[in-house]
Amino acid sequence: MDSPLSPSLAGVDASAPAASPALRWSNSFADLGAVFSTPLSPTELPDPYWVGRSQQVADMLGIDPLWMGSEQALAALTGNLRLEGSRPLASVYSGHQFGQWAGQLGDGRAILLGEIETADGTPSELQLKGAGPTPYSRMGDGRAVLRSSIREFLCSEAMHGLGIATTRALSVTGSDARVRREEVETAAVVARVAPSFLRFGHFEHFSYGGPAGALGQLADYCIDRHYPQCRSSARFGANPYAALLEAVSARTAELLAQWQATGFCHGVMNTDNMSILGLTIDYGPFQFLDAFIPGHICNHSDSQGRYAFNRQPNIAQWNLFCLGQALLPLIGDQDTALAALECYQPAFAAALQRRMAAKLGLAHTHDGDRELIEDILALLAQDRVDYSIFWRRLSHQVGGQPQHTVRELFVDHSALDAWMTRYHQRIAPLPAAAVARAMLGVNPKFLLRNYLGEQAIRQAQRKDYSLVTTLLRVLEAPFDEHPQHEALADLPPQWASGIEISCSS
Ligand code: AMP
Ligand code: MG
Repeated sequence: MDSPLSPSLAGVDASAPAASPALRWSNSFADLGAVFSTPLSPTELPDPYWVGRSQQVADMLGIDPLWMGSEQALAALTGNLRLEGSRPLASVYSGHQFGQWAGQLGDGRAILLGEIETADGTPSELQLKGAGPTPYSRMGDGRAVLRSSIREFLCSEAMHGLGIATTRALSVTGSDARVRREEVETAAVVARVAPSFLRFGHFEHFSYGGPAGALGQLADYCIDRHYPQCRSSARFGANPYAALLEAVSARTAELLAQWQATGFCHGVMNTDNMSILGLTIDYGPFQFLDAFIPGHICNHSDSQGRYAFNRQPNIAQWNLFCLGQALLPLIGDQDTALAALECYQPAFAAALQRRMAAKLGLAHTHDGDRELIEDILALLAQDRVDYSIFWRRLSHQVGGQPQHTVRELFVDHSALDAWMTRYHQRIAPLPAAAVARAMLGVNPKFLLRNYLGEQAIRQAQRKDYSLVTTLLRVLEAPFDEHPQHEALADLPPQWASGIEISCSS
C-alpha cells in the first residue's frame, strides 16, 4: 500500500482486451439495452501512477493482491487497458440541480466497466471516474483533478469506516496530464465500486423522455437486482413500484439520519447525486462539520444555502418527491405514491433520535431524552463547539478518564454545567464503563476534516502519497485510538476556516 510511484506503462494498447484472471465479470447493465447507455472505452492517460489503493475493497472484490500490485492493474484502473469480460459504457440520466429541472446529464466523466462478482458472490459495479469524455460530457473534459479524486477516495472509505452507506473506492491513480480548472491541475481517476450506481436521475430521465417501456424496464431491473422483496410487499401488494419508492424512502431516511448524527454535509444533493440504494454518492464539496453550525454551507458554489447542513433532511425528502413523480406512471395514482413516501419523515426522525441517543450512551430512549439531545445541540451551536471532539470527549469523560474535559470546549460554563447535571442523572443508573465503551464505538475520533484532506492533497501534488495512505488506514477504523496519530484528531488549525471547496472538480 505504501508503494511509491510505479514506473510508467509505455505502449499499452487499450483497444485489445487483456485477460483478467483476478476478476469475474458480468454486464447486466450493458445487457439492459442501448437506450440506457452508450458503449465506449475510457480515454488513456499518459504515464499513470498509484496515488492510493484500498486493500479492504480489493479483498471485498476478491482481487488477488499480486494483481493489485501489477502494472496491468495500474493501467486497467486508469482506463488505459481494457480487461477481458468488461464492456465499458456511460449511462444516461437526468436530474434536478439546485431545485431546477436540468434535463439530460449522464455519466459525463464516469465509465462503468461492468460488474465484478465479489468475494461473497454478489455483483458489484466497477466505475472509473475521470476516465475521459463521453456523449454526456456536455462542455466538460471528462476528467477529474487529483485533489477532488483524493477527497472522493478517502471519504468513500472514511464513510464506510463510520458505518455509513456509501459507494466504495478501490483506487486512485494519477497522471501528469494537465487539466484546466480555475488553475491548471493534473488528472486522476478513482475506481469506484457499488452494487449499483443508479441514481434518482436515471428514473427521472426515462419518465420524462426515452422510449415507452424504458422506465418500467429500468424499475424492474432495479427491483429484481436490489429490491426483490418489493415483489411481495404486504402493504402495496401487486404494486412493486410503490413498494420500491417506499423502500428507497426508508433507506434514504436512514442515510440522512447517519449524515446528520455524524455532522456530514454532502454539499450537492441534486437528484442526479442521490443513489437509488440510499448510498452516499458523488463526493464533491462535502465536509464533516468542525464547529457545530447548523446552517453551515460547505459548497462554496451554493450561494443560497440550499444544501446547508440542517436543510439536508428536507432536501432528501424533496428529492424523494421527484423520484415519486418520476415513478408515477408505473405506480398508477398519486395517492399510492404519496402513501409510499409517507414513511420518510417518521423513519428519519426515529433513526436520528436513536443515533443521537446512542451518542449519549443511551441504548433505550426515555421521556426527556429528546430535550436532552436538543439542549446540548443548542449549546454546541451557541458556543460553536467542535462537533466530533465534543462527543469523543464526552465519551471519555463518562468512562472517567478524560484527557481533556468537555468543559474546556464551552464558553457558557454555567449552561453546560446545568446540562451535565441532567445528563449525569440520566446515566447514573447505567453501568458507566459499558456506556463509555458503547459511546466510543459510535463517536468517532477521526474524520476526514477538510484540512486533513487538504494536507494530503498538497503533499500528493508534490508526489508524496504517504498522508493519503496514513489517512486511509486511520479512517478505516475511526473509532480506534491510533495513539501514534493523535495529531490527526486535533481541533482544526486556524487556516482550515479559509478552505473553500466548490463544485469545481
Ligand atoms: P456533479 O456535479 O459532479 O455531480 O456532475 C454533474 C454532471 O456534470 C454529471 O453529468 C457529470 O458527469 C458532469 N460532469 C461534471 N464534471 C465533468 C467533467 N469534468 N467532464 C464531463 N462531465 C462532467
Ligand atoms: Mg454527480
